[in-house]
Amino acid sequence: MNKPFLADRIDGKGYAADLVEKLTDEVAEIKSKTGLTPGLAVILVGEDPASGVYVGAKHRQTLAIGMESFVHRLPFDTTQTELMTLLEELNAAPEVNGILVQLPLPAHLDTNAVINAIDPNKDVDGFHILNAGRLATGQDALVPCTPLGCLMMLKDRLGSLAGLHAVVVGKSNIVGKPMAQLLMAENCTVTVAHSKTKDVPALCRTADILVVAVGRPELVKGDWIKPGAVVIDVGINRIDRDGRSRIVGDVAFDEAGHASAITPVPGGVGPMTIACLLANTVTAFKRQHHIVTNQAAVAV
Ligand code: NAP
Repeated sequence: MNKPFLADRIDGKGYAADLVEKLTDEVAEIKSKTGLTPGLAVILVGEDPASGVYVGAKHRQTLAIGMESFVHRLPFDTTQTELMTLLEELNAAPEVNGILVQLPLPAHLDTNAVINAIDPNKDVDGFHILNAGRLATGQDALVPCTPLGCLMMLKDRLGSLAGLHAVVVGKSNIVGKPMAQLLMAENCTVTVAHSKTKDVPALCRTADILVVAVGRPELVKGDWIKPGAVVIDVGINRIDRDGRSRIVGDVAFDEAGHASAITPVPGGVGPMTIACLLANTVTAFKRQHHIVTNQAAVAV
């Protein structure tokens, strides 16, 4: 007999809708207080279809909350110098408060050099080396959007995270490492696992909070999850099953019914990522203009 599925589904779509509504109000307040409109510039190099879809979604959602959106679509053969020149212009443009370069870049471009050429105060992806350093040392940083969204959902679900054991599987610069830093800042005891870690299942079984950001479909099985744990599944993997193409996470969702809560894929972490990008743009604007709003949308 199948075990009952008792875990709550963490509704990332609902969290994102709530955050977007608050940001819409905050942007309206900013406009009436300053007469200015926060603006986000997004640069896309090349024609990667998935990146094109993400950039389109960012553009629409930026406009929908009342901000300005500046999309720069550059040809695949754009040179490093051309890209750096555009970044210099955007860094200096007062109407641009946030800058995002859609990754991955074509292989002939130096991604680290490009990211580090963004003004760190406009780096709304939070990938600039200064923002990574600020986050690691507990200073005000622009924080990468995906882990920021994960943290918001965890805090809403659990309240204080202090003293809990968090296991983060994956140590990428964009998800795993900043996620671990954020959880440490919340006084969790944090363990980071990766491809060379011995006995990842045994480690996962000790986690009160399990965040998985690997990119392997359904890697984490039900018996890797401690009963009552909160599971955040960051993975997005396209697979073929029963003759149909579908998206699954890094966790075998159907086996996780004994967790206390889990994010579904799709509909969990993904929707929060764009909402947090908008939130970071509002945060960047407020820091650049030294203003405080009455209805701040982001509490973490
Ligand atoms: P990444 O840069 O490829 O990093 C993957 C990490 O997983 C690496 O640290 C790697 O270890 C580790 N790993 C690989 N195989 C493993 C295994 N068998 N056991 C334990 N660890 C293993 O990936 P990423 O950019 O962090 O993305 C991870 C996933 O999240 C992808 O599916 C991506 O599409 C998704 N994602 C989703 C969102 C969203 O908005 N929902 C945003 C970003 C990413 P090593 O370091 O040792 O190689």
